[in-house]
Amino acid sequence: MCGIVGYVGQQNVSDILLQGLRKLEYRGYDSAGIALLDSTRPDLHRIRAEGKLCNLELKLKTYTDLPPLSTLGIGHTRWATHGRPSEGNAHPHTDESQRIAVIQNGIIENYRDLRQDLRSQGYRFVTETDTEVIPHLVRHGLQQGLTLFEAALKTIEQLRGAFAI
Ligand code: GLU
Repeated sequence: MCGIVGYVGQQNVSDILLQGLRKLEYRGYDSAGIALLDSTRPDLHRIRAEGKLCNLELKLKTYTDLPPLSTLGIGHTRWATHGRPSEGNAHPHTDESQRIAVIQNGIIENYRDLRQDLRSQGYRFVTETDTEVIPHLVRHGLQQGLTLFEAALKTIEQLRGAFAI
């Protein structure tokens, strides 16, 4: 169980994500994290903290790289099922290029097989979670020439379990 929130609109996203996560905090205390897209440059910013949401809020206060304008983002509070509670295992998870960020609620039951397969193709894993296979699979689809939408659909087709992303 965890809390996931996403926003795309006109307003600055970080406050909206934090408001959403505050309402969902009871769904997971292991870590919290957000990813934002810079509205002026194609840069993704990911800020994560172990423990309760207040740790992320504190971290955000000292995070000097926050884009001045971001109107698209995702946020997560984690209740760990696969991988210990730590900042490294906190969502959002990204691919190696740090251009794809994913949050997940639930369990990817076949993540071990997918992980092994992706590893054999050269993908490098940096977390202990079931979720990290998702950004790598999306990346793989993009590298095969699929659009982002097609790559996301193909990824979902390969996942087994009960989850929301
Ligand atoms: N299985 C994922 C993890 O352990 C998501 C858990 C959750 O739903 O919070 O990170």
